[in-house]
Amino acid sequence: MISKIFSAQMLICALALSVPAYAQLSEQQIYGSSSDTHPGLIFLTHDDMMEEPTLFGGLFNTKLIIALLQSYGFSDTFFMVGCHIYGQPLSLPKSSLCQQGLGDVPIAVAQEVADAGFLVANHTFSHLGLSEMQLEDAIKDVRMNQELIDSLGQKLGLKLLRCPGFDCANVTELNSQPDLAKLRGPVNADVGGGFYPDNIMPVPPGIQNPAGEGGDWWFYENDLPVGFAGYYYVRDITNFGSRHGVIVLLHTRTEVMTGSDGSRGFFPVKLLQYIIDNVPAGFTFAPMDGIPGLLGNIRTTTPHLISREFGSNDGQGRVVAGHITGGARKEVCKARGGSVRCMAWQESASQNAKSATPELGPSTSWRDITDPGWSKNYGSQFWLVDMNGDGRDDLVTPSASGLKVGYSNGMNGFSALEPLLADNTLDYRAVRFADVNKDGLPDVVAWIQGTVYVYINNGHGFNAPMAASTDFPLSAGFGNDLYLSTMQVVDVNGDGCSDLTMRGPTDVFVGLGDCHGKFLPAESWTRKFSDRQNFALPSQNLTFSAAKIAGKVGLAAGLFTGGIVFQESDPSTSQFGQYRYIMDNHGFSGDPDFHPEAYGADIVFTDLYGDGDTVPVQVRANGLYASHIRIAKD
Ligand SMILES: [Zn+2]
Repeated sequence: MISKIFSAQMLICALALSVPAYAQLSEQQIYGSSSDTHPGLIFLTHDDMMEEPTLFGGLFNTKLIIALLQSYGFSDTFFMVGCHIYGQPLSLPKSSLCQQGLGDVPIAVAQEVADAGFLVANHTFSHLGLSEMQLEDAIKDVRMNQELIDSLGQKLGLKLLRCPGFDCANVTELNSQPDLAKLRGPVNADVGGGFYPDNIMPVPPGIQNPAGEGGDWWFYENDLPVGFAGYYYVRDITNFGSRHGVIVLLHTRTEVMTGSDGSRGFFPVKLLQYIIDNVPAGFTFAPMDGIPGLLGNIRTTTPHLISREFGSNDGQGRVVAGHITGGARKEVCKARGGSVRCMAWQESASQNAKSATPELGPSTSWRDITDPGWSKNYGSQFWLVDMNGDGRDDLVTPSASGLKVGYSNGMNGFSALEPLLADNTLDYRAVRFADVNKDGLPDVVAWIQGTVYVYINNGHGFNAPMAASTDFPLSAGFGNDLYLSTMQVVDVNGDGCSDLTMRGPTDVFVGLGDCHGKFLPAESWTRKFSDRQNFALPSQNLTFSAAKIAGKVGLAAGLFTGGIVFQESDPSTSQFGQYRYIMDNHGFSGDPDFHPEAYGADIVFTDLYGDGDTVPVQVRANGLYASHIRIAKD
C-alpha cells in the first residue's frame, strides 16, 4: 500500500520539476540531479528513523547503520520523522506511517546520530505529504519537527527538508515563514525513489509492480533479497554517478519494512553494506553540504587573486608561506630555477587600505642555491623557520650532508647558506620543524626508516636525535609518499604542546606530545581521510593538512571532486569530530576538467594574514588565490 502511495507521488514529483526554485537553490540542487556536483560523489540519505526498540535485544538499524558508516568514515544524512519519537500531538488526518512505531523511538537515538557527526534533517513531523495538509497545518507540522531537530544541538547551521513521498506542495509558502526561512531543499533523490526493472534482474512472476518502480521498501515488502535491491541501487548509482553527484534515498525502516523476522530485520543495514561493497572504486561518500549552496553557517569569500606568480606552471615544488619580513602577514616563496624567490605584500596607495584586497608581488630572488643536488635530489624543497629567534623566518634547505640555513635580512634576502644540522640519514619527505619541548625554540622532528626522531634545539645547535615514536613503521606502509607526506607536528588537543599526526591507508593517527620531546602511543582520531575516500589520489592527498578554522584546530583538504573539507579536533573524545565542507565546489576543484577554469591541484593551508586562522591558498594555473572563511553564529 505504501509503495503505491510512493509510486504515485514519484510521478507527481517528476511532473513538478518545473516548479520555481525554492530557498535560493537551483532546481538541479533541489532535485539532486545536479550538474553542479562532481561525478563520483554519493550523498547517502536515510529517511524516517522508525525503529522497533524492543526487538533484537535493543539493537537498532539506526545504530548499526551509523556504526557501519563510521567504520568507513562515510557521511550520511538522516531525515527524521518526529512522530516516531513523540507520538502524534497534531491531530492531522491521513497520517500513515505514524500508525506504527508511534512514539517508540527514544530521542537518545536521534541524539546519538547527531553526536556521531551525521546531519539530522526534517522529514516532517507526521510523515504527511504537504498536499495532504492545510497550509497552516503543514507549517505547524514542519515547525514542530524542526524544533525537535534543533534541540539536538547540531552545529552546522544547516537545516534541510525532504517532503514525504516528495510531495512538496506549498513549500514556498512554508519557507516564507521567518522561523523556517533557513530550511533548505526540498531535497529529492537521484537514486532510491524507484527503479525501472531490467532483464538482468527481472521482477519475479507474481510480484505486483504496476508502475515499474519501488525503493528499498518495495524490495522488502515483496520479500526480495538484499542483493536484488542492491543490484538496482548500484546500477543507478553507477549510471547517474558518472554524470553528476547522486543523492541516494534509503530508509532506516519504513512502515512496510517492520516485522519480527530477525533474519530480515537488518535489511537496511545489509543493503547499505551491499552498496558500499559494490559501487565502483572512485566514489566518495560525502556529506550533503558538499552540494553547492548548502554550506550552513559557513561564510566563505570567493577566492580572489593574490598573485599572478607562483601558479601551478610557475617554478618548482610547492608554495611556502612564512614571516620572512617579520610582519603580521606571511610572505610567500617558491623555487624557480636555482633560486628561492619570494613576494612581499604590496600596499596600494591608490586604494582605501581597509577595503583594498592586498596583492603579493612581484617576486624577487631571496637566495640563489648553487648546490645542483637541491633541485635534482630534493625537488627544490625548502622550509621557512625562524631559527635565530629574531621574529623573521629563515630559509632552511636540504643537502646531502644535512640541513642548511640562510638567515632572513627582513627585506630582500637570506644570507649565504651555512650548516644547520649535520645528519646524512634524514629523509627529507618527512622533516618538520616544531617546538616540541616548550622552550620557544624550533626543534626538528624527522621520520627515518620507520622511527620518528626528535632533535632538540639547545640554542646553539641540536642535541643528538632521540627516538620519539615508533608507531609509524615501514611495515605499516608509512614509507609510502602518500602517508609520509602527510606528517604534521601541530598542537592537536590544545594543551600547548606539539603533537604528531600522520595519515595512513584508513586512519589518521595522532601521537600526543608529552611536552618533553616524545609522543604518546599513536591512536586513530578519524577515518574521514582514507584511501577509500580517494586520498590515495596523489593530487587530493597533497592538499591534506592541519588547519585552524574559526579558532578550531583540525584537518583540512581540498577534494578532487570540488570543495574544501574540514574536521575539527575534539580533545574531549580524542577524535577529530565535526566534519564539514568549508567551501563548496564552486570554490575549488583539483580536477581541471570540472570547471571551465583550469585549476592547479594544490592548496596550501596557512595563516596567511597573521590573525591566527588558516586560509586556503589555492595554487591555480594563473596564480595564487586566497579566501576568507568564517562561521556565522546561526
Ligand atoms: Zn519517508
